[in-house]
Amino acid sequence: MKTNISIALLPGDGIGQEISNESKKIFNWLNNKTNLNIEIIEDLVGGESIDKNDTPLSEKTLEKIAETDAILLGAVGGPKWEKLPFEKRPERGLLKIRKELDLFANFRPAIVFDSLIESSSLKPEIIKSLDILIIRELTGGIYFGEPRGIEKISNNQFKGFNTLVYTSNEIERIAEVAFESAMSRTKKLCSIDKANVLESTELWRNIISEKAKKYPEVELSHMYVDNAAMQLVRNPKQFDVIVTTNMFGDILSDCASMLTGSLGMLPSASIGKKKSGVCNAMYEPVHGSAPDIAGKGVANPLAMILSLAMMFKYSFERDDIYKLINKVINSILKKGYRTKDIFTDKDSLVSTNDMGDLVLKELNNEKI
Ligand code: NAD
Repeated sequence: MKTNISIALLPGDGIGQEISNESKKIFNWLNNKTNLNIEIIEDLVGGESIDKNDTPLSEKTLEKIAETDAILLGAVGGPKWEKLPFEKRPERGLLKIRKELDLFANFRPAIVFDSLIESSSLKPEIIKSLDILIIRELTGGIYFGEPRGIEKISNNQFKGFNTLVYTSNEIERIAEVAFESAMSRTKKLCSIDKANVLESTELWRNIISEKAKKYPEVELSHMYVDNAAMQLVRNPKQFDVIVTTNMFGDILSDCASMLTGSLGMLPSASIGKKKSGVCNAMYEPVHGSAPDIAGKGVANPLAMILSLAMMFKYSFERDDIYKLINKVINSILKKGYRTKDIFTDKDSLVSTNDMGDLVLKELNNEKI
């Protein structure tokens, strides 16, 4: 089992700093209680990096984080940087990390904690015991396709365009990850596309179907994305593992977040092929920098802490730490402690900082 672990912590913007502070408490606890010897290397990304280095991700930072064992990122973006040219915006820093480190497989679990059933806008019977995994292709598709841009086509007419492009290699490698994940769960996989309208996703469907021959035990289905959005809300438990393109995965996983009660509860892992000496995984909450609540001490730090838990499961084969963190969070929620986003009038309202302290307190009652 790996010890002497180096982790790049990139808090980023808005609530990123606040929720990162809570995750540092967990790393400290792990350093005190285990021989993992975790070293945290903190650096800048997004708007913060633009303000200090005039770029959303400096080459120096990229080189540094590429040598760590894993990255934990808060969130990037905010109104302050919205008017910048596209390539200079905070979000470009995040996209650059994903692309440069080739983190092509994005795991977004949507798990409903029983005690949060009341926080969802859906009926309890629809979401009780929900546990689905959305796998989003992360380094291809319309977010990266060329050509892209905004061009003037006449005196007062402009054209904005992006390209939805997938190569068979890109689809094959995400298909492999999806089938392997399905094999490790209930052997049920749904691939989501728009093959009736978009050729690139017709290719997607063909390659996924071809890959299925290697996994005869997996029950594969295909669904168009518009239907999938509706089915996720109508009957989410029909799904187990979902695999989809970059943009569809982005949208559907935000939709799935409301099944769990709040965007503030959803973690994610972005994983690439293992290469020696190069970081191959980044963990981050699904939500953004939430400028509307930044600095108020009300952000939910649990998506970030659950992302940290995923790091120990996927990067360091410490399923015990993953399960332990999930267990203590479940216990805190059962006792009725809630940040504002998941609060109902039966609960005890706590701040971002209080929630981090509660996780620590519960961890202190546990053995590792
Ligand atoms: P958002 O996810 O930041 O916020 C959406 C809503 O959810 C807001 O009302 C916010 O207050 C709430 N919310 C989000 N996280 C929360 C948490 N942990 N606790 C409590 N409430 C929470 O999305 P947005 O408002 O569309 O975007 C804001 C900025 O974040 C934009 O600049 C956007 O580009 C950026 N963004 C970044 C990422 C990322 O860093 N991965 C992802 C999405 C959006």
